[in-house]
Amino acid sequence: MTPSSSPTASAESLLAFWADAGVDAMLLDAPVDRIAAGRMAPPRPAARPVAPAAAPSPARSAQPDVSAAMAQAQALAAGASDMEALAAAIAAFDGCPLKFEGAANQAVVYRGDPAAPLLVIGEGPGQDEDRQGEPFVGRAGQLLDKMLAAAGLTGRVLITNTVFWRPPGNRTPTPAEQAVCAPFVERAIALVRPKMLLLVGGASAKAMLKKDEGILSMRGRWHEWRSADGALELPALPTLHPAFLLRQPAAKKRAWADLLTLTERLDRPDRP
Ligand code: URA
Repeated sequence: MTPSSSPTASAESLLAFWADAGVDAMLLDAPVDRIAAGRMAPPRPAARPVAPAAAPSPARSAQPDVSAAMAQAQALAAGASDMEALAAAIAAFDGCPLKFEGAANQAVVYRGDPAAPLLVIGEGPGQDEDRQGEPFVGRAGQLLDKMLAAAGLTGRVLITNTVFWRPPGNRTPTPAEQAVCAPFVERAIALVRPKMLLLVGGASAKAMLKKDEGILSMRGRWHEWRSADGALELPALPTLHPAFLLRQPAAKKRAWADLLTLTERLDRPDRP
């Protein structure tokens, strides 16, 4: 039996695969009231007076109000005229349940150049990011920075995430959490106007491209990202998450190949 096919190696590989899929913690940092956690925080009253809403039907009132939170995020995002204002709007937003689940101390929005040609979008902040208030500053972030540096991309990126508050136990953010944060991510794209997107990890690629494929099949191929209103379109390249690469160093060559694919297009001269 070769070492790579031993039961231990297979179990480790399976565990790493699960971890990349977000199943990396059996226990959360603190007990969670699951009933309360399923509820969305009520959106703040709108600045302008709005017509009284029709009474919700009993079937709908039991659902977390994702669309109301998305509409509020949309309005706040539209009012932000630069990345600094967008970060302030996000910090003031109460519509994402992650803000109230106990793992997040602050909103983590972006780092890098607000006029960068490349926007890197990860999954969501972890413990180090929550402490320092910037995305990708922990071990995975350090690896990401090394890879970006090796590809000549230092100083040419803005880095953000699909959600802006640390999920408890560093679990993968839910589609509803990503959906309420999506208007802010879209606004960041509209403000930065990058040439392309690098989608880091399966949770980012699935949410941004609205596809239910695994990262291993999406990575390394160009996809088209479209804004919700269809007004903006950009090439987007999914790649492996650096946290996965830390556990599976043999996969680094695939991530490196993805970065070469990316830089080849980024540095291609624009046709007149
Ligand atoms: N992983 C992510 O996806 N984003 C971060 O900001 C940090 C780790």
